[in-house]
Amino acid sequence: MNSTVSGSAPTVGGSLLSVDGDGRVLVGGRPPTAGDGVARALARLVVHGIRDDAVERAISVDQTNTSVIVDDRVVVKIVGRWAAADRAGDLLERLAAAGSDDIAALHGRVEWRHPELGTSTLALVTEYLPGAEDGWTWAVDDVVAVLDGRGPDPAWPALLGRRVARIHDVLGAGAVPTGADAAELRVARASASLDRALAAASGRVRARLHNRRATLARAIRSLAGSAPGLEFPIHGDLHLGQVLASPGDDADGRRYTIIDFDGDPQLEASDRERADAAARDVAHLLVSFDLVAAVAQKRVRRADPAAFAWADRARAAFLDAYRDALRHPELFDDTLLPGFEAEQLVAELHYADRFLPGWRYAPDAAITHRHPSTHELPEEPWTPPPSAPT
Ligand code: ADP
Ligand code: MG
Ligand code: MG
Repeated sequence: MNSTVSGSAPTVGGSLLSVDGDGRVLVGGRPPTAGDGVARALARLVVHGIRDDAVERAISVDQTNTSVIVDDRVVVKIVGRWAAADRAGDLLERLAAAGSDDIAALHGRVEWRHPELGTSTLALVTEYLPGAEDGWTWAVDDVVAVLDGRGPDPAWPALLGRRVARIHDVLGAGAVPTGADAAELRVARASASLDRALAAASGRVRARLHNRRATLARAIRSLAGSAPGLEFPIHGDLHLGQVLASPGDDADGRRYTIIDFDGDPQLEASDRERADAAARDVAHLLVSFDLVAAVAQKRVRRADPAAFAWADRARAAFLDAYRDALRHPELFDDTLLPGFEAEQLVAELHYADRFLPGWRYAPDAAITHRHPSTHELPEEPWTPPPSAPT
């Protein structure tokens, strides 16, 4: 069920809706937040049976959106900036129309018809998954269990391969041929990421990165020879943190759900809308297997090659299942993987250098493991940073 708010002075839960000069969506003059009744009022527009005293609980606030749990039944993702949830709304609706159970069920979307700006998504209302954790928790737990000899390899890499293939088959229905300059643009974008990462890195991390720039650059240059292919609106930000596990029976006693179709937060809003190759999502997810392997080593407080050996097996299981399940194999060009993975690794490191220094160790581990050193600068082996006792 969808709903639209409109009029010259539209209100949500009795508070006036507005867009400020920076494009921020405000309710009653403020950004919406859990407890103010805005998410509840929005949920009541599209879901039956939510009472007007239903409880709101906060889950996440990023720069662009606010997600609130209402009545322990639904998640209301309220747009922070005009138009920021249109892409996610369109993709979720297409997946829901195709009957996908790879995503959290979509209850509906609330749109806002604005007298000057046009019509845009105000909120997306989806099924709440009680007990859900994201992959930075559950996948790390699984790899730690493998490292401690407590567990067999988990079954989820193959399961995710099938889920991602189904999502790509649905979203790829409107795929278009790449532009003639796609290969050139891809090399330019990835090379720029490598240059930025090299410029920002420091200390031991910089030495290890510098010693691997030749092999990273070679992987990136391989994008230049890529054949024309197909592009479509991919997930765009597909990593294990966007895979929720909640109690269920998909595999490993869990249900796995893919969330957050906002697109790549590192791109400008206009670029996020652009179509891209399926291999971009696959590369992004495979890199996150390596990052999980790094986090697991931090958790066990030792550099343990068994973590990356697990990542190798997980990667093979994912790719086999993905290829096997993809009904439109022309969507996936695996020759793009080395270049896209190199780009993702250096972009991850650069992001950490700028915003999250405590995260540098993870892409550093993956770059160090995946790319041979030219030993131009003296370097030390990667070791995990100290981890607080748990
Ligand atoms: P963001 O764009 O801010 O990353 P997400 O859509 O990825 O927002 O959601 C952020 C977090 O909220 C998730 O990592 C998860 O912990 C929680 N979450 C999102 N959707 C659900 C859901 N349907 N059920 C339970 N928790 C959810
Ligand atoms: Mg997001
Ligand atoms: Mg997210």
